[in-house]
Amino acid sequence: MEKNTIRDVSAPGKRVLVRVDFNVPLDDAGKITDDRRIRESLPTLNTLLDNGAAVVAMSHLGRPKGKVVESLRLRPVGELLAALLGRPVDILPDCVGDLVSARVAALSPGGVALLENLRFHPEEEKNDPAFAMRLASLGDLYVNDAFGTAHRAHASTEGVAHYLPAVAGLLMEKEVRYLSRMLEAPDRPFVAVLGGKKVSDKIGVIRNLLGLANTVLIGGGMAYTFLRAKGYEIGASLLEAEKLDLAKELLEEAQKGGVQFLIPTDVVVADKVAEDARTRVVPANAIPEGMIGLDIGPATSAEYGHVIRSAGMVVWNGPMGVFELSPFAGGTRAVAEALTACRGTTIVGGGDSAAAIEQMGFAERIDHISTGGGASLEFMEGQQLPGISVLADK
Ligand code: ADP
Ligand code: MG
Repeated sequence: MEKNTIRDVSAPGKRVLVRVDFNVPLDDAGKITDDRRIRESLPTLNTLLDNGAAVVAMSHLGRPKGKVVESLRLRPVGELLAALLGRPVDILPDCVGDLVSARVAALSPGGVALLENLRFHPEEEKNDPAFAMRLASLGDLYVNDAFGTAHRAHASTEGVAHYLPAVAGLLMEKEVRYLSRMLEAPDRPFVAVLGGKKVSDKIGVIRNLLGLANTVLIGGGMAYTFLRAKGYEIGASLLEAEKLDLAKELLEEAQKGGVQFLIPTDVVVADKVAEDARTRVVPANAIPEGMIGLDIGPATSAEYGHVIRSAGMVVWNGPMGVFELSPFAGGTRAVAEALTACRGTTIVGGGDSAAAIEQMGFAERIDHISTGGGASLEFMEGQQLPGISVLADK
């Protein structure tokens, strides 16, 4: 990675302002349902603290849209963070202001403070320079470890870096290391597994990966637009009619570029999207009228699994079916399982794909699961992310 990291700076005695991504999912009662993003920040925070720095952590949570929303306070996150760090965390009632400055100034080496939800202030998302400067006044050094928010140029992810020495945290470094290796020097054969809901969300990713991958495997809702583009009947499956020409173009592009581009040969259909739906497996070129394609079929799963297991590198973005419902989770499970059996490097990007692999219990056997949904997509599209670009070059 050509950016400086916390390894390149001296931390002892410094107050370090660390942008973390503690935007964790909460249930209706406000309980944290997945703490992975908090756990993933620990290497950076512990390294700084063990080196004698005081840490001022800051994050957004949810979408409060510039106002204080009681249910989006960071207190539960701070309490969990304290437990995971095994140190007290001073959970502050705001992210700027005199009281915040005083409490931050009172931190001694090894001390930790957590600022309140940054997006309670509208200036955060506006990347307001005065607000960024107020945040910057809370530290001597800025560390961005929030890969999941790096595609946004906000005050805490971009603006603040103009007022302090700015380096990457260890999670940011790990994310960039895996994702850039994939884009710059992937191990071959390089297989991209792309699914999820819509083609329109993934056009940039498909385009970019078509120029890099040896094989592209298509599943999920987007598969049906490709099947339709081939002239097949797709029943009541998800179709983006305005993307049919694009789908044809991508199929041709793949052929010209010598990329093996596989779409499903069989699919699981049902007449409703429900847990108690009665399912059938049908050939992908003959989906009966009125039936909805909701997962890749067993023959497709077997074929994709075979390709994935023998890959040198695999990147997976987007579930193969409506995995949230058990009758349609088989294809996603098969792909996830094949990834764990692959001897090459395995990378998962995308919020729902990461959730699926976690939920199915395969997470520990994947080399890298990106903590950024939108950020990993933009990275895979080949875009520069503002929260990374702004950090000091090596
Ligand atoms: P990611 O977050 O990993 O990038 P997406 O957000 O693009 O993935 O897509 C995930 C969603 O796609 C899931 O909620 C899943 O239910 C849905 N999906 C998958 N297959 C289908 C399908 N055949 N029809 C409709 N929706 C689908
Ligand atoms: Mg998603």
